[in-house]
Amino acid sequence: MSIANTTTTAASMPGVVLPGNSTVEFKEYPIPEPGHGQVLVRMKASSICGSDIRAIYREHLGMGPEGYQGVISGHEPCGQIVKVGPGCKQFRAGDRVVIYHISGCGVCDECHHGYMISCRSGSRAAYGWQRDGGHAPYLLAEENTCIRLPDSLSYIDGAFCACGFGTAYEALRRMQVSGQDRLLITGLGPVGLASAMLGRALGAATIIGTDLSENRLALASDLGLVDLAIKAEGGALDEILQRTGGHGCEASIDCSGAAPARLLALQGTRDWGRCAYVGEGGTVSFEVSKYLIHKQITLFGSWVTSLRHLEELVERLDRWGLHPDRTCTHRLPLSEAGKAYELAAGGQTGKVCIVFED
Ligand SMILES: [Zn+2]
Ligand SMILES: [Zn+2]
Repeated sequence: MSIANTTTTAASMPGVVLPGNSTVEFKEYPIPEPGHGQVLVRMKASSICGSDIRAIYREHLGMGPEGYQGVISGHEPCGQIVKVGPGCKQFRAGDRVVIYHISGCGVCDECHHGYMISCRSGSRAAYGWQRDGGHAPYLLAEENTCIRLPDSLSYIDGAFCACGFGTAYEALRRMQVSGQDRLLITGLGPVGLASAMLGRALGAATIIGTDLSENRLALASDLGLVDLAIKAEGGALDEILQRTGGHGCEASIDCSGAAPARLLALQGTRDWGRCAYVGEGGTVSFEVSKYLIHKQITLFGSWVTSLRHLEELVERLDRWGLHPDRTCTHRLPLSEAGKAYELAAGGQTGKVCIVFED
């Protein structure tokens, strides 16, 4: 079925908007027409990210690039192109695509390097934040934000790469995680699970994860993604050190955004090791000499990923035979978006995804 043969003037679709009081609302929208350089994507999978919960669903916290403009939510969209606008150069109707979730100006230094996430132009707009996102049956996308989804990957695999897995991959890549490393992950939410799956694929020998939630610790263990799941409480550091010959892990990543977990990530990093912060929001306070300088640690801040690295990620997932959709614990139809957000906000689940039937 394609809407390409129908008139779209009268056609409308429901879209999810987030008023910012832990509820969802449905509004009716016209099905958009792709303009120059744009494609119309029929949504197949559209997942919920921790940032949706933190900065939009509970309350509208964001400013600038995280400022929510009342658009259709959803910044992890994946689907099939049903219509291309004039001037499109690569994609055709029928192509399966992941959508890199930020459309940048295209001409600044960051955009030239594929980091549309870091574009500071006023024309920068993220899907689900400042322009309509994936929690609707159709999404209007810029062709230059589309990445071809390899045949072996499911639409849910693709959706998870659009933000969460892309974010984990970028940080691990920046730390050059390899077979020489043991990896510590603080926070076993969806990005933590992604870091575990990708860290293993990159060669990390031992993977240790921490979280406050028993459910999340159990999920990470049951999926075989971590070798050791530790409750993030008083004795966590001792357990990490004990498991690593008293050294700590060569690489660590905080995926929680919580101050105690950020500190634990640093404390659990071996001297001369690398630590990355990707969990958003909040603050952290620690003794800089003791935990950073004297340990000779390299600390990375890493924000989402680039177009090129997203493309590299889906290519590698295909080659490795890995499926991010293994971390999906809840699949719900668009009509149950309220339940989907509630589950994701509960902080006890793996990834929650809205799926669309044909
Ligand atoms: Zn996100
Ligand atoms: Zn730009």
